[in-house]
Amino acid sequence: MENTNLKVLIVDDSTVMRSVLTDILKRIGFSEQNIMGAANGQEGVDTVAKEKFDLILLDWNMPVKDGFTALQEMRASGVTTPIMMVTTEGERMRVVEAIKAGANNYLVKPFDANDLEEKVQQLLASVS
Ligand SMILES: [Mg+2]
Repeated sequence: MENTNLKVLIVDDSTVMRSVLTDILKRIGFSEQNIMGAANGQEGVDTVAKEKFDLILLDWNMPVKDGFTALQEMRASGVTTPIMMVTTEGERMRVVEAIKAGANNYLVKPFDANDLEEKVQQLLASVS
């Protein structure tokens, strides 16, 4: 896998989810030093304003600023990085809205390593 040099931002309020996602990304070829975390939508928006990423994993439900609002703000500020929304089953209906707002793909929780790998590869292939 050729993901080694890609920089990823994981925006999720759950530290457990951030480490689960980090572990899976490492298993599919990403390097830990290129994986950053943000604990809510606002932190995510602030981080992408300062640094360029190749992929953003964006949780939907977060305090301070939810993922959907963060998505809208990132796109409004000209961020073109591929964004994958990470949603729960209950938010599945809102995914269309997120795609319209500029999300490139989505992952429904609970997911396993294969689901994430497949979606990440799909997403990176679609934008390359
Ligand atoms: Mg959350």
